[in-house]
Amino acid sequence: MHDTMRAVVIAEYGGSLQATRRPVPRPGPGEVLVRVRASGLCSTDLHLLSGRQPLGDLPRIVGHELAGDVVELGEGVAHWRPGDRVTAAIDVTCGRCRHCLAGDTQLCRSMQRIGFERDGGHADYVAVPAANLVALPAEISYEAAAILPDAVACMYHSLIHQGGVGIGQRILILGVGGLGIHGVQIARSAGAEVLATSRQPQRVALAEQYGAVGVNTAHESLEAAVQRFTDGEGVDVVVDNVGNRASVLQGLKVLRPGGKFLVVAYLDETFEIPSLPLFKTELEIIGCRGSTRQDLIDVVRLVRIGQVTPVLGASYALDRIGEAAARLESGDLVGRIWLTRD
Ligand SMILES: [Zn+2]
Ligand SMILES: [Zn+2]
Repeated sequence: MHDTMRAVVIAEYGGSLQATRRPVPRPGPGEVLVRVRASGLCSTDLHLLSGRQPLGDLPRIVGHELAGDVVELGEGVAHWRPGDRVTAAIDVTCGRCRHCLAGDTQLCRSMQRIGFERDGGHADYVAVPAANLVALPAEISYEAAAILPDAVACMYHSLIHQGGVGIGQRILILGVGGLGIHGVQIARSAGAEVLATSRQPQRVALAEQYGAVGVNTAHESLEAAVQRFTDGEGVDVVVDNVGNRASVLQGLKVLRPGGKFLVVAYLDETFEIPSLPLFKTELEIIGCRGSTRQDLIDVVRLVRIGQVTPVLGASYALDRIGEAAARLESGDLVGRIWLTRD
């Protein structure tokens, strides 16, 4: 193994993402060193660069979605072997607080996240706690696995745990991006009917390809589409992947009485909620944050049995992360971007 590696480091806010050289990390007690084979580029990485989401201590190696091979075990690691193919849950949690003890690790108050408060996976190597590793079966490629911890597991957590989505329900997914397209598949695999919206025809078409009824909201009224889709009843659950004032108001309007509105995105800092309809029809507004390690394990299984197909948009070499970021910002891509090694 070399002493140094390629890594995408944010040293100060602003500028562009680029690969530079850093020392290869050593795994501490309870950690493993993973040779990263692919990592997922997320729009959050761009928010980290701009400082919109502050990182705390800089410099920091970013990248919170990764897949690769275990290459070295730290002290006390028993259940993994060099050569194991793995992905990693993002949240490094304390295991002791009331939320961790209840299995709600996504709410741990002393959490450190891979690629945020600790160094991440846009690099050739990353040291992560062995507790965060999830084994990858041979059928799942590194590329596909590299977009599971955030884009797919987060939708799974939102729909299944927070939304209680199940058989026979009618779900509205607002926004068919890197998250929404996987939300469509997860809701379908849970037995729900899905209506999915976008203002871009190719995204509407993709949602339909994965089993949703697509609505192009640039041309059609959402209310009319929901009326038709639910025979006038309203949807059971709305998943808001857009997160602006308009999406919240529209989504709340098309819920059935007692329906659930899942807040996944937060583009606008504040939302306005009409109070009387909320009161009169007992609507629930539910926050959704990240996922647990068990969510990631479940998602790996869903991919293995073919219930969910990770939708990959484009790949770039790690050294070309600047171009990849520009492509992501352009918004012309459907599906996630992943970064390859060598
Ligand atoms: Zn992300
Ligand atoms: Zn905790």
